[in-house]
Amino acid sequence: MGEGVLAVPFGQRVPFAARDAGFFCEEVPAESIALAAGTPTFVYSASAIRERYHRLTSALKDCPVRVHYSMKANGNRAVITLLRELGSGIDVVSGGELAKALRAGFGAHDIVQGGVGKTATELREAVQVGVKLINVESLEELVLLNAIAGEMGAVASVGLRVNPEVTVTNPHAYIATGAKGHKFGIPHVSALAVARDAIAMQHVNLCALDMHVGSQLSTMEPYRDGLNRLKELTLQVRSAGATIKYIDIGGGLPVVYQAGDAEPDLAGYADLVGKVIRELGVELIVEPGRFFVGASGVLVTRVLYRKESGGKQYVIVDAGMNDLLRPSHYDSYHQIDAVKPSGKRVTADVVGPVCETGDFLALDREVDDVQPGDLVVLHGAGAYGYVMSSNYNARPRAAEVMVEGHRFAVVTARESYDDMMRLEHEDPNWRDA
Ligand SMILES: *Cc1c(COP(=O)(O)O)cnc(C)c1O
Repeated sequence: MGEGVLAVPFGQRVPFAARDAGFFCEEVPAESIALAAGTPTFVYSASAIRERYHRLTSALKDCPVRVHYSMKANGNRAVITLLRELGSGIDVVSGGELAKALRAGFGAHDIVQGGVGKTATELREAVQVGVKLINVESLEELVLLNAIAGEMGAVASVGLRVNPEVTVTNPHAYIATGAKGHKFGIPHVSALAVARDAIAMQHVNLCALDMHVGSQLSTMEPYRDGLNRLKELTLQVRSAGATIKYIDIGGGLPVVYQAGDAEPDLAGYADLVGKVIRELGVELIVEPGRFFVGASGVLVTRVLYRKESGGKQYVIVDAGMNDLLRPSHYDSYHQIDAVKPSGKRVTADVVGPVCETGDFLALDREVDDVQPGDLVVLHGAGAYGYVMSSNYNARPRAAEVMVEGHRFAVVTARESYDDMMRLEHEDPNWRDA
């Protein structure tokens, strides 16, 4: 998998770097991209995505595995198409993601459907397509799915997403998903009972157990603890009569956002999961999102103003929390570089134009002493960036650009005012007079 994909060893190609001539996205000056696409703009490095994909599949080469990229991290059409071409399947968590995946050329067997609150319509769509696996998260959902598949004369391939009830150390409570009491998954204590119910149903085929313990996991312990629980459960579910073909261990592999963050121990990860997978004689499913795209994208934004208030310096840029929600939502850190640094430094809050005090990209950060008109880049913006953006303050969504080597293209146009108003009815007849 992924073999022969890298024409150039990645070490020779740096996705994003400050050079004497300014900041470069692969071989393209960030300034050229800003001139062509405007700001704010997300820029993704195809080489970086390739390299990350290759790195993971190489580590797992001795393990029967299928990668299903978690498209919620970055659902850009060019990004998911690239990953499909590299050999990846996809993990979708909504009907919209399913539709986007199909349009990008993924086939039924390439698709795993997840999500804690799938609607009947979304389940019907997945059964209609005949996706490889639907990971259900409650008995109620299982009952509904069985009824839907029955009406359609189908048998749906089903996995049970189990809450493995492991605690994780990661940077923010909002990206832990597999601790006791979280909304995700079937509580570990009820999993076997739900499996027995599934086995008794006519229109579901229980063939997988699934977990997703959290995101940006800095150690392998949560995987080890979760896998041990899944392994034990697999044996019990098999004794109860199910043929378990897949173990799905979700996503969670981290990326480096700042000094002190570590790259994941992929060799350790492969050892750990490889052992369990071979013991159980199943195929592994992994659903990395952030790991492929997080460090493969930057956000290019332009400085609008500088100001001082209450003894504090502010850098006001044209990207806000509606473009990149992570700093205010997750308290996340994004390295900030001036595209043409002056060399002078200043400690400032880097903030957006949105009318919210929570609209910031960095607080109390030492940055280049950038001036109005200057361009800056925020690193680590490839995952949970554009996909979480909104039109708050009636701000059109940013453009997205893909770059490889010396080439780049706008792959999603910047939204226009008309785009934002397209769904509004001009003369709705709701008045009571
Ligand atoms: C979010 C999510 C992923 C991807 O998580 P990352 O931390 O981005 O790798 C994978 N699987 C499921 C079920 C998810 O909800």
